[in-house]
Amino acid sequence: MEKSIHLHPGREKSLLRRHPWVFSGAIQQVKGEPAAGDTVAIRAANGEFLAWCAYSPVSQIRARVWTWDPAEEVNIDFFRRRLASAINLRRKCGVEAGGDAYRLVHGESDGLPGLVIDRYAGVLSVQILSAGMERWRETVFHLLSELMQPDSIYERSDAEVRRLEGLVERSALVTGKALEGAIWINENGLMFPVDVAGGHKTGFYLDQRSNRKVVRNLARGRKVLDCFSYSGGFTLNALVGEAESVLAVDSSADALHAGQQALERNQLDATRVTWLEGDVFQVLRTLRDKGETFDLIVLDPPKFAPTQAQAQRAARGYKDINLLAFKLLNPGGFLVTFSCSGGVDLPLFQKIVAGAALDAGVEASFIQRLGQDVDHPVGLYFPEGEYLKGMVVFVHTQ
Ligand code: SAH
Repeated sequence: MEKSIHLHPGREKSLLRRHPWVFSGAIQQVKGEPAAGDTVAIRAANGEFLAWCAYSPVSQIRARVWTWDPAEEVNIDFFRRRLASAINLRRKCGVEAGGDAYRLVHGESDGLPGLVIDRYAGVLSVQILSAGMERWRETVFHLLSELMQPDSIYERSDAEVRRLEGLVERSALVTGKALEGAIWINENGLMFPVDVAGGHKTGFYLDQRSNRKVVRNLARGRKVLDCFSYSGGFTLNALVGEAESVLAVDSSADALHAGQQALERNQLDATRVTWLEGDVFQVLRTLRDKGETFDLIVLDPPKFAPTQAQAQRAARGYKDINLLAFKLLNPGGFLVTFSCSGGVDLPLFQKIVAGAALDAGVEASFIQRLGQDVDHPVGLYFPEGEYLKGMVVFVHTQ
């Protein structure tokens, strides 16, 4: 008997628009007793075939689409084709010209739901985030060895979202050389240490690569404040761009230590940088109370709102730090501000930043919109793939 999911009448609409998720509320009946990760047919209420999907019995996202083609089989060749296509897209975009660290696979937007693969020099860092992809785990590792010949593959399936899929967290070397210490990567000519086994996400915030160059180009002669600096991606670029000084703030001592190592390795002038371990919300207030000012401020906070339900609270957090930043900026200064919250879209983020400028009493203009780099494609039918929003704001001299 065919394993299949039958939708309530009318609930096929999002699938006809090629959105790759089937939510539990859309489902009328599940036939054939599929297990977690099984490939099932999705059918409209009238029985019409819509797609082949992976079944995930405990998740709100009950199924994720593998293919819309009724004749396409989900097997090792399917994964070989999809992985090869993701790898080729990066080649076509010339991603390697920007260094040896980039996202090789960006989940749904690369036709591989639940799979994230980042390349850090010779190491592939893999996140498996859905029951469907978990089923094909060994196949994916086998194909990665075949297609990429990495020195090592490391699995970082320790993201919390795995629990929503009924999966346990896992973080371990899969194959190849054991990782001893940090992997050094090259990003636009700068070297950074990446702790593939223990760093945030898969080890580094690759999505900011092109935006770090934007900061590099704005930094000359400026007094810079890099908030939520992690290992100093923006800080080091500001230095290369001849910033007068940089204050880097992060709550993670390990991240700041990595930044210091990077500074040394790149032989940059350490006397121009101060690394400050602290809570940005507090530090901004302290700087304001001391009457300190800056000419360029970067705000790159962690995710405040993974989903729309948390958007209200997140909005308050963004408003708070952006308002404080505007108060600390000298006239003629730049604010480079980001949100990586899926639950906060660009219009909302822009409204929050405009509200913060208004309350701070400054005249300001957006001069550039920023987003994730080309190795983080966004499926046109999958707006959720676009999570990083940013803008460069110029504060007028009145
Ligand atoms: N700008 C960085 C990435 C920032 S990720 C880059 O270019 O690589 C978010 C960072 O915020 C993390 O390093 C995390 O340690 C830090 N963080 C989270 N909450 C914080 C807080 N309240 N105060 C300071 N840092 C915080």
